[in-house]
Amino acid sequence: MFPTPLMEKAAALDRADPLARFRGEFYVQPGEIYLDGNSLGLMGRPAEAAAVRALAEWRALGINGWTDASPPWVDLPESIAAQLAPLVGAAADEICLTSSTTGNLHQLLATLFVPTAQRSVILGDQLNFSSDAHAITSHLRLRGLDPAQHYREVTSRDGRTLREEDIVAAFTDDVALAVLPAVLFTSGQLLDVAHLTREARARGVMLGWDCSHSIGAVPHAFDADGVDAAFWCSYKYLNGGPGAVGGLYLNRRHFDRAPGLAGWWGVKLSRRFAMSHTHEPAAGAAAFHVGTPHLLSLAPLQGALEIFSAAGGIAPLRAKSLALTRFLMEAIDAELSGLGFTISNPRADAQRGGHVALAHAEAWRICQALKVEKVVPDFRQPDVIRLAPTALYSSFNDCLEAVVRLKHIMTTRAYEQFAARTGGVT
Ligand SMILES: *Cc1c(COP(=O)(O)O)cnc(C)c1O
Repeated sequence: MFPTPLMEKAAALDRADPLARFRGEFYVQPGEIYLDGNSLGLMGRPAEAAAVRALAEWRALGINGWTDASPPWVDLPESIAAQLAPLVGAAADEICLTSSTTGNLHQLLATLFVPTAQRSVILGDQLNFSSDAHAITSHLRLRGLDPAQHYREVTSRDGRTLREEDIVAAFTDDVALAVLPAVLFTSGQLLDVAHLTREARARGVMLGWDCSHSIGAVPHAFDADGVDAAFWCSYKYLNGGPGAVGGLYLNRRHFDRAPGLAGWWGVKLSRRFAMSHTHEPAAGAAAFHVGTPHLLSLAPLQGALEIFSAAGGIAPLRAKSLALTRFLMEAIDAELSGLGFTISNPRADAQRGGHVALAHAEAWRICQALKVEKVVPDFRQPDVIRLAPTALYSSFNDCLEAVVRLKHIMTTRAYEQFAARTGGVT
């Protein structure tokens, strides 16, 4: 039977939702429940319009688009930085919109990692996204440092989450730099950025945050928290489009650092065309630009961020995101008990990012069956179904309907028709 009390609750929550009107701004496919906005956010109409406008400006203006487009292409990264700044509690000039998540981590390593005889270790964690470890270990090798000696990972006790006291204990006096995810990509655990930043600074450790899974879903207060540096992608909760240009934050107390990876676009505008072989850095984080901005991958982000400001900024989005995942967990508890599922994200609001991580031994095959039922989740090794209802375009009814379809898959054993996972792209 359909779960009537939950149905009524979902309907009441949707009726009371002040952000419900933004769903119409997105291309939500009819009948589909899209719960993968933490991997690739859906296209919104303003993002589409901004991308189309950039193409039209290219068509009409050619090279003159750099100065005559609206806004001029030459200013676009900095004007998007200003739009983004309130989402992370930073000043616009501390943000550089450039490159990818991984590219920006390389830039931060090249700029901020200053090994000394005493401090030459970079600290990461066992659960972070693979690319961060690749960037760190390859960077160490470039510096002639063996990762076996100079890269260390905080270990997880349960394979899903990190203990903050374990992280603090790992800020030892041989660590120069640490890189941590604000929200863990598999379990969705939200770390206490303010607390860990304070502890790192008290121990002389520079700390950079990977905010790929938090930006656009969780508020940050980088300046107030005294964060050293952060980096992120723009295609997850920010809905900037596949491969959208990423971002990097550098606290202004580090503005005296020369960019480790430099290029002509990081030179101050008035001197860029002087073509001097002496690098004269732009003020603030703009010095981190390397080459010409990827205009067509920036333009949709500008449109996407218009929706964030129209929605009243990050606070109401976080409130709805928490309500969505809370309701989703309630529906899972009520409807899926005894079917082999475990909610493996932290349940407390203060430790929960934007998604629910549902563990099941058959997670891979269940994800395949969900797609047939027009629910879009994603699978993460080894056994996690990630379900990410997003504040801008998901409803409470979406959460319930996803659970109803999931229950149907389990009771009919529809997932058994799929082959076991053999590897490859997920
Ligand atoms: C999505 C994600 C990345 C992706 O890196 P790209 O360089 O943008 O491909 C990196 N780190 C984390 C934690 C992520 O969630």
